[in-house]
Amino acid sequence: MSFIKFLGTAGARFVVMKQLRASGGVWLSVGKTNLYIDPGPGALVRCLSSKPRLDPSTLDGILLTHKHLDHSGDINAMIEAMTQGGFKKRGVLFAPRDAFEEDPVVFKYAIGYVEKTEVLKENSEYQIEDIRFSTTRRNQHQVETYGLNFKTSPHTISFITDTRFFPELPNLYGGEILVIHAVRLKAIGDEPIEHLSIEDVKSILKKAKPRLTILTHFGMTMIEAKPWAVAAELEKELGLKIIAASDGMKIDLEGDLNDE
Ligand SMILES: [Zn+2]
Repeated sequence: MSFIKFLGTAGARFVVMKQLRASGGVWLSVGKTNLYIDPGPGALVRCLSSKPRLDPSTLDGILLTHKHLDHSGDINAMIEAMTQGGFKKRGVLFAPRDAFEEDPVVFKYAIGYVEKTEVLKENSEYQIEDIRFSTTRRNQHQVETYGLNFKTSPHTISFITDTRFFPELPNLYGGEILVIHAVRLKAIGDEPIEHLSIEDVKSILKKAKPRLTILTHFGMTMIEAKPWAVAAELEKELGLKIIAASDGMKIDLEGDLNDE
């Protein structure tokens, strides 16, 4: 069965530090292929305590969108779990170059445990067994990161990870399912916090018109505003199907998207 499961919906520092939401990232299964996206703090524990349990030794790969701690905290633990402590060389690790270079987040010994490392670059195509995906142009964030478009079937999926809004952004994502890291309720002018606000999300959705939008990666202002209430209001305003992810939420990728 193909599915996405949210093992965390926390975004940015305070929600992660206080664990107001879990910060484990996302498990994506398509056909027989299992890919883990952004193993933030607690990813390993969230996999093992998930019901039904998700077994990291069945992962075919791990994709790190960027090196910030809320995305990468458990990267080495998950590599060890995928490779059974390095005894079984296995899997592909995808990450931008700066996750490996100065102030790296992936240990050298752990890189030796995976079968292959692929450096994410802008506008490039990648494949891991049944999952094909491409990167967008570079996001505007303090560290190197790219948006993702998964050419999965029967539904394509796009992921907008952390970035500041920029005018071309709404044109880069064609997925029927759009996962957006909606960190902030309101924009805060020129402060150096390069995250999307709900105003930005509106601009994106008006253009991209996905069949199903999933908001996740919530910061404090979104938690206070209750993500499900924000999603319901957006849904009414835009006339699109929009939901807020919750910890442990699983979306069946083979079902009818209107049922979600
Ligand atoms: Zn970030």
